[in-house]
Amino acid sequence: MDIVSTISTSITLAKRLREIAKNIEDAEFKNLLADLSSELADIKLEAASLKEQIAALQEENALLKQTTPPVGETPIGRKWGCYQFRGDDGLYCPACWDSKRKKSSTTRVNTKFRLCSVCQAPLGAG
Ligand SMILES: [Zn+2]
Repeated sequence: MDIVSTISTSITLAKRLREIAKNIEDAEFKNLLADLSSELADIKLEAASLKEQIAALQEENALLKQTTPPVGETPIGRKWGCYQFRGDDGLYCPACWDSKRKKSSTTRVNTKFRLCSVCQAPLGAG
């Protein structure tokens, strides 16, 4: 269930109670009802902000999952100064892998060198 719509419904219910309360001459009752309405309004704002934060975190989490290799993955060899991984014919920067466990792709500069796309380290052929 959507928390924001649940809170909206609660606010509507509180409004209806205020309508009914017009016929009740109890100041304390009316004050409490006014307090309740204002608390609900605060909760609605808070819930909307939490929903935004959750969405942002989900996005960040998905990105981290995409860019984080499985635990235990290790390079199976080296080619032109780059790391190679099983089931993947890409050539990756050893510095990025060794320091951050990040698979940074490398681009070919010429027949002798490749360049890391993230840390810009030149990787020698051979
Ligand atoms: Zn790198």
